[in-house]
Amino acid sequence: MPSIDLRSDTVTLPTAGMREAMARAELGDDVYGEDPTVNRLQATLAERLGFAAGLFVPTGTMSNLLGLMAHCGRGDEYIVGQQAHTYKYEGGGAAVLGSIQPQPIEGEADGSLDLGKVEAAIKEDDFHFARTRLLALENTMQGKVLPLSYLAAARELTRRRGLGLHLDGARLYNAAVKLGVDASEITRHFDSVSVCLSKGLGAPVGSVLCGSAELIGKARRLRKMVGGGMRQAGVLAAAGLYALDQQVERLAEDHANAAALGEGLRELGYPVEPVQTNMVYVQIGAQANALRESLAARGIRISASPRLRLVTHLDVKAADISHILEGFAAFRRN
Ligand SMILES: *Cc1c(COP(=O)(O)O)cnc(C)c1O
Repeated sequence: MPSIDLRSDTVTLPTAGMREAMARAELGDDVYGEDPTVNRLQATLAERLGFAAGLFVPTGTMSNLLGLMAHCGRGDEYIVGQQAHTYKYEGGGAAVLGSIQPQPIEGEADGSLDLGKVEAAIKEDDFHFARTRLLALENTMQGKVLPLSYLAAARELTRRRGLGLHLDGARLYNAAVKLGVDASEITRHFDSVSVCLSKGLGAPVGSVLCGSAELIGKARRLRKMVGGGMRQAGVLAAAGLYALDQQVERLAEDHANAAALGEGLRELGYPVEPVQTNMVYVQIGAQANALRESLAARGIRISASPRLRLVTHLDVKAADISHILEGFAAFRRN
C-alpha cells in the first residue's frame, strides 16, 4: 500500500543526497561561532536575500520570535493578521516571552492585510497606548502569494509611519517560484525575514532569520536567552544548504501536483478554493472524520478538518495524485 501524507510539507524525509551532505559537513561549536557549515548557511542565505546577516535557529517559531523581539521591546506592539502563524500558532510567544502586544486585524481573502486597516490600527503617541513598532506579514499565507506591488505598498506605509516590516517567509521560496522571480525581489521590501528550511525545502530541521547586522546581533543574544544556541549544528545546516542549492526549483512540481489535485477534486464536485502554490483547501464540513478514515484505508493521511488542507511536497509524486483522487471519488460514492 502506498503511504501518502498530505497533512503538511513538514513531513518530508531527508533525501539520500541531503543525508550525504549532512554526513560530510565540516563542524565546529557554533556558540563560539566556529561551525563553518552554519556560518556558510547564514552567509549564503543572507547574501541571496539581500541582507547583511543571518542566524540559524532550530525552528520557524523561534526565528519569528527572535525577529519580533529584535524589533519590539516590552510594551511595544506589532500589527499582524488574525490567522497569521506568529499570532495564532506560536503559543503566544511574542506576548509571553517578549512582552510584545499583538494588534491582530482580520486578513483579506487574498492573504494580505488591508493597508488602510493596518494604518488605522497604528496607535498615536499617547501614554495610554502601546507603541506600535512593527507590521508582520506572511508569504505565502495559507498557500497564497502576496503580489510584489502589495509588498511595495506595505514598505511605503511602514516607512512613512516609522514601523519595521517583518516577513514570516516560512514558505518564501514557494512564493518566489510561483511568481517566477528571485526571492530577493520579495525580501528587499522587508527589514527582517524568517525562512523555514524544514517545509517544502525538505530539510529535517531549521530556519534562518535574516536582517541587518544590528538586528541579527540582537537576535543572537535573544536566541541564547530562549535556549536556542546550538553546538555542532552544521550537521543540520548542511541539510539547509543542500536544500537551497538542490530543492528550490522543484517546488514547481509541488505546485503542479497541487493544481492537478485541486482540479480533480473540483471535477468530483468538491468545493475547492483556488490553488496557487502547494496547498489545496477543500470544504469537507461534517464529513471530515469519515473522510480521514476512508482515505487512511488507502494509505493516504489527512487531517480531519472541515476546511481541509491538503499539502503537496517532496514525498508526494505526480503519480500519487490519481490514487488520491480515486480515494476521494470512492468516498463520494459511498
Ligand atoms: C511552519 C511555519 C512556521 C514555523 O514553524 P516551526 O514548526 O516552528 O518551524 C512559521 N510560520 C509559518 C507560516 C509556518 O507555516
